[in-house]
Amino acid sequence: MNDAPLDVVVIGGGQAGLAAGYHLRRLGLDFVVLDAGSGPGGAWQHAWDSLHLFSPAAYSSLPGRLMPPQPGETYPGARHVVAYLTDYEQRYELPLIRPVRVEAVRHDGELLRVEAATGTWRARAVISATGTWGRPFLPALANGAEFRGQQLHTVDYRSPSDLTGRRVVVVGGGNSGAQIAADLAATTDLTWVTQRPPRFLPDDIDGRALFDVATVRRRALDEGRTDPGGVGSLGDIVAVPPVRAARDAGLLQARPMFSRLTRTGVAWADGTTAEADTIIWCTGFRPALSHLAPLGLRRTRGHIPTTGTQAQGEPRLHLLGYGDWTGPASATLIGVGRPARDAATAIAGLLGQDRGPRR
Ligand code: FAD
Repeated sequence: MNDAPLDVVVIGGGQAGLAAGYHLRRLGLDFVVLDAGSGPGGAWQHAWDSLHLFSPAAYSSLPGRLMPPQPGETYPGARHVVAYLTDYEQRYELPLIRPVRVEAVRHDGELLRVEAATGTWRARAVISATGTWGRPFLPALANGAEFRGQQLHTVDYRSPSDLTGRRVVVVGGGNSGAQIAADLAATTDLTWVTQRPPRFLPDDIDGRALFDVATVRRRALDEGRTDPGGVGSLGDIVAVPPVRAARDAGLLQARPMFSRLTRTGVAWADGTTAEADTIIWCTGFRPALSHLAPLGLRRTRGHIPTTGTQAQGEPRLHLLGYGDWTGPASATLIGVGRPARDAATAIAGLLGQDRGPRR
């Protein structure tokens, strides 16, 4: 047990946890960031080799410090993001403790108790920023199948060289599915399968425009106007250069979703089949929230309902990152700064009222 209670424990040291740390530090709060990772960078450490951001560096920055451009690349690669996040946490001397996987957050009188195998921390407030990478989602079709080949999820995919010459089915019409299909198109016998026809954003639209949409949305919500909606109406897939090249070469022809797996591949309802050595499920993620279960908070569609970032039913808990439900674009580098500031400010306000004399 770490004896003296802290103001705040941040759980998760990816970009969302760092943005929270930046604002907590500015507000002079006493905090630690507990991170299960072995090193800095959050999910970006585990991305596949060719993953590039869908926005230029200047549009991929956390509060306080612009991401420097990556020489020779308009859209920085994942390793560049890891280097930026490494520098960020050092520059702001953020109190990261690694590796610490938080197993449970519990009520402890006026405090919250944060438990891990390696220690226990007590805090007046908690920010949970554990992301989604740790909870890959697989549809029911992937389970209990007789398929004898290899099944991977986005989180398992690293490089086309691992699959050269194989028959590969990539499932998913989002950015991950499109990018991995493009990565594999030239060197494998590829079948790309999407639930609905792939919707490419116009070629001149990248993450900058998506962020602009999120900004308009936030402004409308702040002013109590009707939610104008997110970016869904624009399309799903940012046509980053490798995706655009594969699409324009005619290599990204999507087939509709198959209805079942066979021993040796996949089968559609009309009786057609495709043989496969490997199926890659690019079917998304769910928020990694199991450590919050002991708090007994209500769940809606796998989320903990929030007002802004604050958990409904537990004002000492804030959720950051994860998806638009914790703030427009809060699961992006540039978008997480604002909700991080809101969470830190709300906690400072709460502690200002409740804290009383400090230890
Ligand atoms: P993460 O980066 O996942 O960090 C969470 C951290 O919490 C990890 O270090 C993890 O180890 C730790 N953790 C988890 N559980 C626990 C626990 N119980 N106890 C302690 N620590 C824990 N965003 C952009 O801005 N631009 C892009 O171009 C872009 N492209 C993307 C492409 C892909 C394919 C994907 C999947 C995402 C992309 N994103 C992009 C979205 C977004 O930036 C990432 O999802 C981002 O990693 C989310 O950051 P995070 O800090 O919320 O979570």
